[in-house]
Amino acid sequence: MLSGKTAIVTGGSAGIGKAIAAEFLEQGASVVIANRSEETGKETAEELGCSFIQCDVSSYESVESLVEQTVEEYGELDILVNNAGIGMTGTVETTPLEDWHKLMEINLNGVVYGTRAAMPYLQESSGTVLNVASVFGLVGGPQTAAYATAKGAVVNFTRTTAVDYAEEGVRVNSICPGFVETEMTESELEADSFYEFVLSQTPINRIARVEEIAEPAAFLVSEKASYITGTNLSIDGGWTTH
Ligand code: NAP
Repeated sequence: MLSGKTAIVTGGSAGIGKAIAAEFLEQGASVVIANRSEETGKETAEELGCSFIQCDVSSYESVESLVEQTVEEYGELDILVNNAGIGMTGTVETTPLEDWHKLMEINLNGVVYGTRAAMPYLQESSGTVLNVASVFGLVGGPQTAAYATAKGAVVNFTRTTAVDYAEEGVRVNSICPGFVETEMTESELEADSFYEFVLSQTPINRIARVEEIAEPAAFLVSEKASYITGTNLSIDGGWTTH
């Protein structure tokens, strides 16, 4: 249970982040969701009964302000979920360099910025960071050059940050989901051939529901996981087991 804890969930207006925010609220936490669109953020915050702070994780100033506003309002920060991210398909040759840099700013630097801005407060609260990586942080995949490179870096950033802050009482973990039903994957999965490819890689033979990602996420940030740090937990229906 997360009673008395204050959590930030970046990208909490939709998909996996929204489900994580809902699960944390269900378990008694105070939650701040943060994303770019004020309209969607406010709408989701109202629906879930949590706070919304507008933030673009690709800007360090924006992330720092998110953390500071949260601590000002709630007095502390216990949990940071670096979930915000975008999808992108392409090989190293077909991905325009401008898109490559944009993806790295959001999916990789966004995680670094959040962790850096929150770390002083997490050390005070003996708090925890949960990064949302991907199966493509653990294995390669077709047409995922930029995405898999960023997620692979998030996986190792998780490990090395866990080592640096273990003695300070801060745990750092990631989750590595397989394919989940969200806006990010909707159009990709509409193509029969891609859907069949995904199922062929997934022994459980179906796409995940967002709740199936949110519940293990809540476990990892809870006291029940007090001896777990530096773990990159696959939640992938068996994708990375073969
Ligand atoms: P989604 O439904 O597209 O939601 C993405 C969320 O991130 C939205 O709230 C979006 O809001 C926010 N966001 C995007 N760019 C942002 C930025 N620069 N600053 C702040 N917020 C930003 O995506 P999802 O499928 O839930 O994915 C969430 C995370 O899970 C991502 O890191 C993704 O890589 C990872 N993941 C997803 C899957 C999957 O199958 N869906 C699998 C493995 C991993 P705004 O656009 O308003 O900013």
